[in-house]
Amino acid sequence: MEKRALDIQAAGAWLRTAKAVLVFTGAGISAESGIPTFRGDEGVWDNFPTRGFSTWPGLLLSIISRPQSVADFLARFIEPIANAEPNCAHRAIFLLQQQSNAVIVTQNVDGLQQLAGSLNVTELHGSLFITRSFSISSRKQISRTEMRELVKGLKRVSEDKLGVRGFVRAICPLWGLNGLMPHWPDVILFGQRLPRQAWNSAFSAAKHCDCMLVVGTSGVVFPASLLPKIARSNGAKIIGIGPEKPNCDLWLAGNAVEILPTLVSTAFGLAEGH
Ligand code: NAD
Repeated sequence: MEKRALDIQAAGAWLRTAKAVLVFTGAGISAESGIPTFRGDEGVWDNFPTRGFSTWPGLLLSIISRPQSVADFLARFIEPIANAEPNCAHRAIFLLQQQSNAVIVTQNVDGLQQLAGSLNVTELHGSLFITRSFSISSRKQISRTEMRELVKGLKRVSEDKLGVRGFVRAICPLWGLNGLMPHWPDVILFGQRLPRQAWNSAFSAAKHCDCMLVVGTSGVVFPASLLPKIARSNGAKIIGIGPEKPNCDLWLAGNAVEILPTLVSTAFGLAEGH
């Protein structure tokens, strides 16, 4: 039997016999749904420097000095997410959750794991489809259709060379004022603390799991990158999936959509595409 098949069997046996499985995902799992990753070939940061676009103060300053660039950046980031559908890697994780009661922690803000059917997904970096204000009760859901409309508005800002006012009008459903009450997208940018409850759940899951599946993450975003280390130092076996080798016990190199369905069906004796 070739090495890949042997590795998948070994990883499948770990998943099947584990008492507590933690699945930890990053942007790579959604790449085949058409959402570009941040790092790797043609990553977002190659076109837009992190200083001006990845922190709230940086973004605010950029809106004042170059609203069309910010509109262009946001349209390019949001459009693929607003149009994306879950892929078979998300569906395989949903199946894994059903079979093993796995805990799912994601760094993604695209909501695709939930669209694939998963409940109880811990979103460490928030969600693009929720806006928030100062109180928890003011959280609101934005639909994918509303998000697509918003993208059209953002594109008009750069196409028609509109200024700050045009930008503010276009972004308003996601970020702005309702009367005097501000609202903003519930996503974590660089330099911000993670939501306490999400971090506590993720930390506890990492501490108590005995098998962790790490899918499609470069492992450079802190403190999320600590989770595999916490799991490993508590004796969990780590299975890494992606083209780049993460720090793990068993690396299944390649594309998540090719590996995950086979892995989950091998682990639980299901027909592939189940
Ligand atoms: P990253 O961009 O830093 O790294 C992506 C990783 O996925 C890389 O290691 C890459 O080799 C791997 N990859 C690429 N294609 C893959 C595939 N088909 N199958 C498996 N792996 C693949 O992403 P990150 O580590 O998640 O950190 C980036 C941050 O940016 C996160 O905080 C996340 O919130 C945010 N982000 C989210 C989305 C999204 O919600 N879909 C997209 C881009 C960035």
